[in-house]
Amino acid sequence: MRASTGFNWCFLSPHLDDAIFSCGGQIHQAKAKGESVNVVSVFTADEPSAERLTYDAKCLHLAWGLRDNVYAQRRREDQAACETLSAAWYHLGFSDCIYRRDQDTGSALYDLNAVMAGEIKSPDAALLCKIIEAFRRLPQSQHVLAPIAIHTGHVDHLLVRIAAELVFRQKGVLLYYEDLPYACGVDLDSRLSQFNQWESQVHKLSEQDIEAKLLAVDAYTSQLFDVFRGQRPGEILASYANRIGGERIWRKKRIDWYQAISAECT
Ligand SMILES: [Zn+2]
Repeated sequence: MRASTGFNWCFLSPHLDDAIFSCGGQIHQAKAKGESVNVVSVFTADEPSAERLTYDAKCLHLAWGLRDNVYAQRRREDQAACETLSAAWYHLGFSDCIYRRDQDTGSALYDLNAVMAGEIKSPDAALLCKIIEAFRRLPQSQHVLAPIAIHTGHVDHLLVRIAAELVFRQKGVLLYYEDLPYACGVDLDSRLSQFNQWESQVHKLSEQDIEAKLLAVDAYTSQLFDVFRGQRPGEILASYANRIGGERIWRKKRIDWYQAISAECT
């Protein structure tokens, strides 16, 4: 199902799995209340031809158990997961960082270490502009959820958060979700409490919400072993939900810059 009209909720997913891994329970809950949900995945384009793949990309494909038409298969997994939750899905068609190259030198922008290093390379500035344009063209939504991306350092997650802040923050619709399962071992509460600008809210989940989420998570067959490091996805996500009380979302408080500067300067 391709989204074309307005939605109650829009979940921005860097890759074909992040939104459902992180927010599948609240998506199920919203749909049960009759609300509309759009899952927008950003880095969804077909992989380059075999001779253009880096060694790291080939290793990842091996870990995913996929040989040919890798991203076509991943898109089908995402479609199946979203349909399990009766959510609309939309694929923006940008290339994953493991395939991106410097246009001038032709060299790969990120190896597997650089992917998680939290440093966006300067050639990606043009890509950021394109993502911003794509976000501007999305159907209206009452709430837009972006990955908080604090604990992953993944450059694609950071790009999505930055673009979301530039497009949706001023509109007052932007919320942040915790990127799961990467946030499972991180104490975000104490990390963010140092800064006075964050507040959180837990979406309490029922047994049915968690069950529905795990059913949708299972659709990402190629990703489960790699992302969950060989552990059981259901156990990791359910134990996190039990510890937190559901799925937690964050909001940045509005800062009155005039007051803040006035206070500093008097
Ligand atoms: Zn991701």
